[in-house]
This record gives sequence, C-alpha cells and structure tokens, in this order.
Amino acid sequence: MQILVSPYELSEQCRDWRAGGLTTALVPTMGYYHAGHEDLMRHGRGLAERLVVSLFVNPAQFGPGEDLGSYPRNAERDVAIAEACGADVLFMPKADAMYAQDHGTWVDVPDMAKRLCGQRRPAHFRGVCTVVLKLFLLSRAAVAVFGNKDWQQQAIIRRMVRDLNLPARIETRPAVREADGFALSSRNVYLTPEERAQAPEIYRGLRYAQELASRGEKDAGILRRAVLRRWAERLPLGRLDYLAVAHPETLEPVTCIGEPSLMACAVHLGKARLIDNILLYP
Ligand code: AMP
Repeated sequence: MQILVSPYELSEQCRDWRAGGLTTALVPTMGYYHAGHEDLMRHGRGLAERLVVSLFVNPAQFGPGEDLGSYPRNAERDVAIAEACGADVLFMPKADAMYAQDHGTWVDVPDMAKRLCGQRRPAHFRGVCTVVLKLFLLSRAAVAVFGNKDWQQQAIIRRMVRDLNLPARIETRPAVREADGFALSSRNVYLTPEERAQAPEIYRGLRYAQELASRGEKDAGILRRAVLRRWAERLPLGRLDYLAVAHPETLEPVTCIGEPSLMACAVHLGKARLIDNILLYP
C-alpha cells in the first residue's frame, strides 16, 4: 500500500491506472477506523481493480465550536487497517494541500443540505460535497462507497453526482452496529461509561417507531412523539438535536408513512453528537 499526501501524486497515480485500463474504487473517511470503515473498504476492494482510501479530517465540514481540534486520530493504527483491508493507496493530505489559503470554490446542494443535520450545521454538507468532489476529480474513481449511517450525506452525494454528471457510481452500506444496536462511530470514544450505557436507547427508539409503523401507524407526528416519550424515560442523559421523518431521497418532510420513509435523528450525549436513522415501512 502506498501512502500519499500530495493531491498531485494521487492524481498522477490514478491517471496511470486509468491509462492502463484499471478502474478505481474510492472510500472517503476521516479516520479513527472501526468495523464500519473496514466494511466499506472491504466492499470497495471488490468493486474495482484499485482501491483508494482517503483519510482526511476535512476542516470545511466542521462549524465554529465543533470538534475539529479534538476529533480522534490514530494514524498508525489506521494505516495498518487500511492495508489489511486491501487499499492500494491511503491518501492522507494535510489541510493546506487540499485548501489554498484563498480557497473560494464550493459545491452545495442547498435544498437538501438545509434539512435534518443541516439545521444546526448550515455549512457542513457544503464542506462534504466540496471535498468529495475534489476526491472524485483526483481519483477518477468509477465507484465510491459510503455508509448509510450518514444517510443524509449519501443522499446529498448521490444528488451531486447526478446533477454534475460525474462519471461515478455511489454504493452505500448498512450501518455496522455493536451487539446492543448502537451504531459504531469514531466519536463514540467521547462517551463516559454512563453515557455509553444509555446510548443503545437511541436505536431502540428508532426500532420502536419502525415497529409501530409496521403495525399500521402512519402518522409521522405520532411516531415521532412515541420515540420522544421513550427517550425521555430511557435516555435521560441525551439532549435532542432533532428527530424527523423525511423522504429517503429528497429529504423533504413526510407527515404520512405511505411509502418507505426515513426517520433520522441527532442526539447529544455528553461531548458526542450522535446520529442514527432507520427506514419506516408502511
Ligand atoms: P467518517 O470517517 O465518520 O467520516 O465516515 C467515513 C465513512 O464511513 C462514511 O461513508 C460513513 O457513513 C461510514 N460509516 C461511519 N460509521 C459507520 C458505521 N457504523 N457503519 C458503516 N459505515 C459507517
């Protein structure tokens, strides 16, 4: 596995592969790997002849007061994991190599970016789209792999790819979870033992809504309130950011579960802001 830090070198390497008729799969990450990242990498490994994994804590997707400075890092361990998962290149650029001091070009999907997580993180998805587009342009990837745990992110990237006619396919993978249902996230290290003990209630609440929907409850407001009541009892350390029911592709609000709908949430638990989601089937 090569470790590349220069965007130019990544571009040259991927251009050579392409000239040789080899396709590339891309897995963008911010590092501090867990089994969810490993699943994306191993899946990506099977999709193309070459696998590029990027490890970049992208400053553009963090807002003021967010955890850019304290985001967990362990480069040595991540290098070993990426290699074990079959990456041909691990791309680890410095921020100033990705963004010139006077960087001023942004890619945005504003209608989708303002919803769900975007209410509290107004510039987040603009930062995500911009860095992912740069990674597509550098890697010329034929396919990129994202996790459904960040549902809004993959929906926005699919839209960007369609709108800009990018010659790449997007694949998504289900969230990898702990045995108790809690979704793996690099930010889970922020949790105290007490917070960790309550954390599985996030997904249990979403599962409860899914069960009510499958038994015939179609009113998104009723489902939402049922989850909030359950969380009030069982997740007292949690502070709600949002809980919403939305169209899985457009992310527009849904009031009646007539077709499969997304229920998505963000909950603050101590220092961690945790997101999760589930599909509700009528
Ligand atoms: P991150 O490093 O957190 O920015 O995530 C990089 C990629 O891993 C994104 O596509 C995420 O959706 C995906 N990912 C994060 N957590 C999980 C998980 N628990 N299961 C599967 N994929 C995940």
